[in-house]
Amino acid sequence: MRSQARVVVIGGGVVGASVLYHLTKRGWKDVVLVERDELTSGSTWHAAGGFHTLNGDPNVAKLQEYTINLYKEIEQISGQATGIHLTGGVMLVSNRDRWDWLKMAHARNRYLGVPTELIPVKEAKKHWPLLDEKQFIGAMYHPLEGHLDPSGTTHAYAKAARVQGAEVIRKNRVTDTVQRQDGTWDVVTEQGTIHAEHVVNAGGLWAREVGRFVGLELPILAMAHQYLITEEIPEVVAFNKETGREMLHCIDFDGELYMRQERTGALVGTYEPNGRPWSPKAAPWDFSTELLPPDLDHISDNLERAFQHHPALAKAGIKNVIHGPFTFAPDGNPLVGPIRGLHNYWVACGVMAGFSQGGGVGLALSNWIVDGDPGFDIWAMDVARYGSWANMSYTSKKVIENYGRRFRITFPNEELPAARPLRTSALYDRFKAMGAFFGVAYGLEQALWFAPKGKKPQEKITFRRSNAFPIIGDECRAVRNGVGVIEITGYAKYEITGTGAESWLSHLLTNRMPAKGHLALTPMLNEAGKLIGDFTVAKADDERFYIFGSGPAENYHMRWFEAHLPKDGSVAVRPLAFELAGLSIAGPKSRELLARLTDEDVSNAAMPFMAFREMDLGIVPAKVGRVSFTGDLGFEIWVRSDYLAAAHDMIVEAGRDLGLVHFGGRALMSLRLEKSWGTWAREYRPIYGPLEAGLGRFVSFKKNDFIGRDGALKEKEAGGKLRLVTFTVETRDVDVIGDEPVWYKNNVVGWVTSGGYAHFVGQSVALGYVPKEIAEDDQGFEIEIIGKRYNAKPQRQPLFDPKGERMRG
Ligand SMILES: Cc1cc2nc3c(=O)[nH]c(=O)nc-3n(C[C@H](O)[C@H](O)[C@H](O)COP(=O)(O)OP(=O)(O)OC[C@H]3O[C@@H](n4cnc5c(N)ncnc54)[C@H](O)[C@@H]3O)c2cc1C
Repeated sequence: MRSQARVVVIGGGVVGASVLYHLTKRGWKDVVLVERDELTSGSTWHAAGGFHTLNGDPNVAKLQEYTINLYKEIEQISGQATGIHLTGGVMLVSNRDRWDWLKMAHARNRYLGVPTELIPVKEAKKHWPLLDEKQFIGAMYHPLEGHLDPSGTTHAYAKAARVQGAEVIRKNRVTDTVQRQDGTWDVVTEQGTIHAEHVVNAGGLWAREVGRFVGLELPILAMAHQYLITEEIPEVVAFNKETGREMLHCIDFDGELYMRQERTGALVGTYEPNGRPWSPKAAPWDFSTELLPPDLDHISDNLERAFQHHPALAKAGIKNVIHGPFTFAPDGNPLVGPIRGLHNYWVACGVMAGFSQGGGVGLALSNWIVDGDPGFDIWAMDVARYGSWANMSYTSKKVIENYGRRFRITFPNEELPAARPLRTSALYDRFKAMGAFFGVAYGLEQALWFAPKGKKPQEKITFRRSNAFPIIGDECRAVRNGVGVIEITGYAKYEITGTGAESWLSHLLTNRMPAKGHLALTPMLNEAGKLIGDFTVAKADDERFYIFGSGPAENYHMRWFEAHLPKDGSVAVRPLAFELAGLSIAGPKSRELLARLTDEDVSNAAMPFMAFREMDLGIVPAKVGRVSFTGDLGFEIWVRSDYLAAAHDMIVEAGRDLGLVHFGGRALMSLRLEKSWGTWAREYRPIYGPLEAGLGRFVSFKKNDFIGRDGALKEKEAGGKLRLVTFTVETRDVDVIGDEPVWYKNNVVGWVTSGGYAHFVGQSVALGYVPKEIAEDDQGFEIEIIGKRYNAKPQRQPLFDPKGERMRG
């Protein structure tokens, strides 16, 4: 066996084979895949082989489309058939909410370029003749659905990779991965050791065990899943004869079923609400091309629904039951990318829809290995979206919850209950007693709004405005008219120290670094000049800085920071996570409130906009920045976590006769809309450049060189392609959620990134990207919300305080 390779891919399921193929496509030939048994001998061989482009994240949906279009290519290169049947499919719905959901999915497909159609049930029956029309109210036709042969497909990837120079070694288990001093890897196998530059963990059912070789506990869990294949169904035979074609794929959302034709019968799969993990702690190495014993009792409720919705199934005999495990991450999306702190160690696992996603995962990961960047926006599947808080028990609870909700709607204002509360601050119990309604981000409980006295913090889940709408409105108005306090512990915060701190930060970030005692806003770019972060930097001292950014991106940003630290030890970066907690006070009376807490001069002259001071607030030492995401006069107050309760006590006490109110995350999101301020993972993502995102003024081309400068300069010279535009939307009772299409003169030209109701100014607002050529046009825009188009008016300046007098005054 060879002893050297540039990349060793561990695992020959559909995902590992795709990664291998894509590496060869990028011209890397010195690559090898090591498989424990035969190719496909994890979850791949017994898959139903179905594929589609449906995903909650449009960027993942695009990669799914890429995957489906790839099958012809690998067939051609390998000469191996994938058995692809691109039949198209129908998605059936039985209730109004799901119908609304379908309208939104269809609308999104408009800008994704997938020509779906909303059709009546009668029409759907022409594609899936087994349905009982009475059970449904509508359907969507989807052209990019179908199925393939899982084994043929995996072999096609592997063979295409071999044709292009790769090697596949079978019957050889990897037993360890050991990193050498120089950062390269010894991949220890049953047949010897391969020394490699890069290791890819594509271990599928055993990815967790492979990760444990390097002390990594990946947040994935395998669930046992069943589908059955029926005997011949006369209705299917009749349909084939009559139409000369095969039945289309069918997803019955309310039945929680996926179905398709299999020979002259049907394949019926289901996700039951009480799903069961397979090998919750450790997957056995001797499990191979085996199945679990059939257990139809466990899915009997779902099958009953199947028989009710599709009566011909009730009469059909069952030929075969497939019961096998496959893996999920807590949110159901893959885990892809480099692992923070493990140089050249990559994962491509937790892929629950290998035949929809495998190609896209292989493409993104191979780009990342070769170029240092995935080349797409893969935030939704980046392994860094989870931190160490996502341990095995957390993962189990969330995966079981997610599995049972596979075909259920998650509403935009819905907060799912599993594994909560997990991370809480010292204010959690008090906020709970005050009637807070909590959401969770990055495992941390955060107050979203506060129920008025005597009311319960309960929210009706909906795509439209909920019962919390007037409450959030009151919070917004109270901030703008007086003063409010919000906990901001959920922001990510980092301390950067050392003699090289300033020059390092200035190399990483696009703006000039602030003077001592000041703050600066600054994007962070990747090598291509695209946005990978958006921070506030505080210079506390010559060799001590703090940066504040998006909470859920902490691991993502730490991975980037650590990968770029100088080797000479001149800079140290530390995530402050829970070491530092925060409260923000905002509104016209916030300065008066702050002044009551300290002897320091906090007047506008002494502490102007963007000032940063370390000062005592009564008995509590604090760091105070004069900035607020509300866009109002405001201050961010950072204290050590053990001082948080005392700081809160003082603020409440001092604010009592100023009419201080508590406001939550939803009010903050509403207030920032009035300033047209974007947020990470919504407006700011790696598919946009800073100019496109309206952050051009925070990029200084006059300072030192910085990462992404060339790309940003090119963008500036050529003007980029897109522009972020703020629209007011002429609606009465509904607001955008995000991902709606933007129409311009009857064509879909862009998409909404976020929005909602801006309560203080009383306008429905949407932020979205459109081509730069039309971005200056004031007329002709519409935004489609739940199937209806509304006039949308571009706003050229913030709706609230356009000159920034409030925040600067
Ligand atoms: C019943 C069922 C139905 C499904 N239906 C569909 C469907 O219709 N459509 C769809 O897209 N997906 C479906 N799936 C999911 C699909 O099977 C997975 O998404 C896919 O198999 C994931 O592939 P993988 O390569 O990540 O993992 P795996 O297939 O598990 O592959 C991992 C490979 O790594 C090897 N390996 C692990 N550890 C080592 C080691 N230490 N050394 C060497 N080799 C190692 C294993 O032997 C294995 O071959 C279904 C799954 C099940 C169980």
